[in-house]
Amino acid sequence: MNTTTTVPTLRLLSLGAGVQSTTLALMACRGELSGLDGAIFADTGWERPAVYRQVERLEAEFTKAGIPLHRVSNGHLRKDTLDPSKRFVSIPYFTLAPEDTMVREEITETDSDGREAIVGYRERPATRREREGIGRRQCTYRYKIAPINRAVRMLLGAPAPHYRRVPKGRVAEQWIGFSTDEIYRVNDRRENAYTIKRFPLLELGMSRKDCLRYLRRAGWGDVVSSDCIGCPHHNNAYWRQMRDERPEEWADAVEFDHAIRKGGARGEPLRGQAFLHRSCVPLELAPIDRVTRGEWKDRQLDLFDDLDPDDPDTGGCSPYGCISGAPVTEDDDDREAA
Ligand code: SF4
Repeated sequence: MNTTTTVPTLRLLSLGAGVQSTTLALMACRGELSGLDGAIFADTGWERPAVYRQVERLEAEFTKAGIPLHRVSNGHLRKDTLDPSKRFVSIPYFTLAPEDTMVREEITETDSDGREAIVGYRERPATRREREGIGRRQCTYRYKIAPINRAVRMLLGAPAPHYRRVPKGRVAEQWIGFSTDEIYRVNDRRENAYTIKRFPLLELGMSRKDCLRYLRRAGWGDVVSSDCIGCPHHNNAYWRQMRDERPEEWADAVEFDHAIRKGGARGEPLRGQAFLHRSCVPLELAPIDRVTRGEWKDRQLDLFDDLDPDDPDTGGCSPYGCISGAPVTEDDDDREAA
C-alpha cells in the first residue's frame, strides 16, 4: 500500500481492541510481526465492559512481550455529550426534520426542440424519507484520532506541555488493523508529516474471518468489536443482542437515546429530532427484530463456514475509515501541528 521509503523512528499500533487490532497485537507479542515499539488505545470512556476486559488482557500480553501499551483519552463521550459545560461534539445520529419541512422543486417545460428548461419553482411538504438525515461524525476525531496523534507526537519527542512540534525527521509507522474485507475503508493518504500508515493484515491477505480463526486458535475466541455502547452505527443484530444479552448496556443506550432528542447539551438545539436508530423512532420501539438483507446474506454465507452465523459484529469504530465516511475534524485549535 504505502510505497514510501522513509525509515520510521517508531512502529506504533493503533489499538481499538476489536477483532483486527487484537489479532495484530497478538501477532506482535508472539513475534509473528516484528518491530512493534508500542500500542496506543484511545478510550472514549463508553466502550462496552467486554472491550475493557480485552484491553486488560492484552496489556498482560504486551507486558510479557516488553511492548508498552499507552492508554489515552480526550474525555468521556457519553458524559461530555450530556454536559452543557462541555464542548459540543457531533455524533452521527439519525435526524428527522420537523413535519412542516418543505422542499423546493423545479418546474420545467420542454420546448418544441425537446429541450427542458426551468421555468419556476414550487414548494411542497417533504416526505418522511426526505426529512431523514444523518449528523456529522466529529466524535471519532475528538475521542480517538486527536488523542492518538497527540500520543504519537509525544512518543516522537515533541516537547511538553502541548506536544505539538515533532522534531524534524522523526516519523512513526502507524499500524492499522484493516482486513481484506474492509478494503473500502482504507485511506492511505498521509494526514500529517509525522505518521506513515501501514496495514499489516492487508499485507498478510487476512480477512476478518481469518482474524477470528487466528484468535480462536490463540485462545481469544470471545473478542468483540470495539465501539461506543450508544453508537448510531450499530446494526439491528447488534442492538438485538445488546437488548437480549446485555440489559445494562441496553438501558444505558435507551436512556442516552432519549437524552439526545434535541442533539447534544451544548450548541444549537436541533429543529427536528435525533435518534440512535436509523428508523428515527425511540430505540426501545425501533424495529430491531427485523433481519436486514445484509444480515440474511451473512447468515447464508456463514452456514458454510465454521463461524457464528449470528455474529452481530459490524467491524467496530475505526478512526481511519468509518462506514459513515471520513470523520470531521473540529477546528484549527484541534488540528495537529504537522
Ligand atoms: S463508536 Fe460511534 S459514537 Fe463512538 S466514536 Fe465511533 S462513531 Fe463515534
